Amino acid sequence: MSTTRLPNTVEPYRLAASAERLEGSVKLTDMPRLVEAIGAQEGDCLARLSFDIDAQRQYFIEGDLTADVMLPCQRCLQPMPVSLKSDFLLGMVTSDALAANLPGRYEPVLVEDEKLDLLPVVEDEILLTLPQVVYHDEADCAVSRDQLQSGEDVDGSDDTAPNPFSVLRTLKDKT
Ligand SMILES: [Zn+2]
Repeated sequence: MSTTRLPNTVEPYRLAASAERLEGSVKLTDMPRLVEAIGAQEGDCLARLSFDIDAQRQYFIEGDLTADVMLPCQRCLQPMPVSLKSDFLLGMVTSDALAANLPGRYEPVLVEDEKLDLLPVVEDEILLTLPQVVYHDEADCAVSRDQLQSGEDVDGSDDTAPNPFSVLRTLKDKT
């Protein structure tokens, strides 16, 4: 019935030694940093993780994930569905100091006491793949639909978001 959940904690060196693959889902609501970044999310992240050892005896995890999230459109500020997808290659290290020696193609992942919590690893990858800004297609966007009759005042923007007025201006120039 339901999809397999990823195990919370694994022994990644052991999994790499036997070249294991894990596949499963993680609830997005279980990711506190993600929820803090983009608000409460329904749905799951589906992740596939392959554990292995490369020719230089570097233990690694090759993975990919997909997740559907809702992000606010930066034009009308209504939530819109966004599909996230990420491929990643993680090199296991036992200390931060060793991370500096990793070949450049690897992102370091710190493994302490031979144990690794998978949820924060997957959460990190989702956070890295989040787009900075998203917009509805113009046909679907509340602001475009109104064709800016009010002219201005799309409220709720913050300083880090692109200025919605510059978008409005662009739209106006087209008409
Ligand atoms: Zn919109």
